[in-house]
Amino acid sequence: MKRTPIVAGNWKMNLLGSDVVAYAEALAAAGPPETDVDIVLFPTPVYLAAAARAMLEWASVGAQDVHAEEKGAYTGDVAAAQARDAGAAWALAGHSERRQYHGESNVEVARKAERTLGVGLTPVVCVGETLEQRQQGETEAILDAQLAPVLAVLDAADGDTEGGAVLAYEPVWAIGTGLSASPEIAAAVHSHLRRALNDYRSGLGDAARILYGGSVNADNCVDLLGRPDIDGFLIGGASLDPASFLRIIRLCAGSGSGPAP
Ligand code: PEP
Repeated sequence: MKRTPIVAGNWKMNLLGSDVVAYAEALAAAGPPETDVDIVLFPTPVYLAAAARAMLEWASVGAQDVHAEEKGAYTGDVAAAQARDAGAAWALAGHSERRQYHGESNVEVARKAERTLGVGLTPVVCVGETLEQRQQGETEAILDAQLAPVLAVLDAADGDTEGGAVLAYEPVWAIGTGLSASPEIAAAVHSHLRRALNDYRSGLGDAARILYGGSVNADNCVDLLGRPDIDGFLIGGASLDPASFLRIIRLCAGSGSGPAP
């Protein structure tokens, strides 16, 4: 099964409205979009609608986070249905910065992913260990614990959503540090995650796209994507500049991953 690579940019709390427009213009000026890569951008929520309008056929957009509840008195939060209404097609769930700064538990992440799926968005579920957990030899146990409550959601996403089941392995020690996981480390974890998905339901792992995130740039993306279980990237810092994001997209184009049909 061939899996179309995803190259996704997480802008976090960066860029202004004028930057979003300039970014879209830079992508458009680069020519027609790559057709064999799914390109996704995660702007801050206030610019979601503007980004969805501006990116046109170049990229789809997603929410960086949605609330686990359908709607209500949750000042400052965004409902999944609102994100969809604003033009999102995807939503991150469980980014490590949400887990770390907002205390999101594995169960809450799963509830958010479920809510995302419920309104027709494709959840991108993020998992990853801290440096201390890796040094203690706990990586697989931590990932398994993060994965357990979302397995049913990923299973439902496979088939129910346009994006299918999408998981992002983002070692916390590699995010924003300039210290990317080596292709060997990333490949070993991705293979573990794919096996866990296949153990849950045969074929789920083969279909799922598992992204790597953590200091990805134009210099390391080719080696990482060359590994059979790495299906693309979730990129923070290097996605803020359209030229650097485009370089990564171009390098990833034409490299559909997974065993040949
Ligand atoms: C991220 O925030 O998801 C991320 C991977 O950031 P960076 O690429 O900057 O490490």
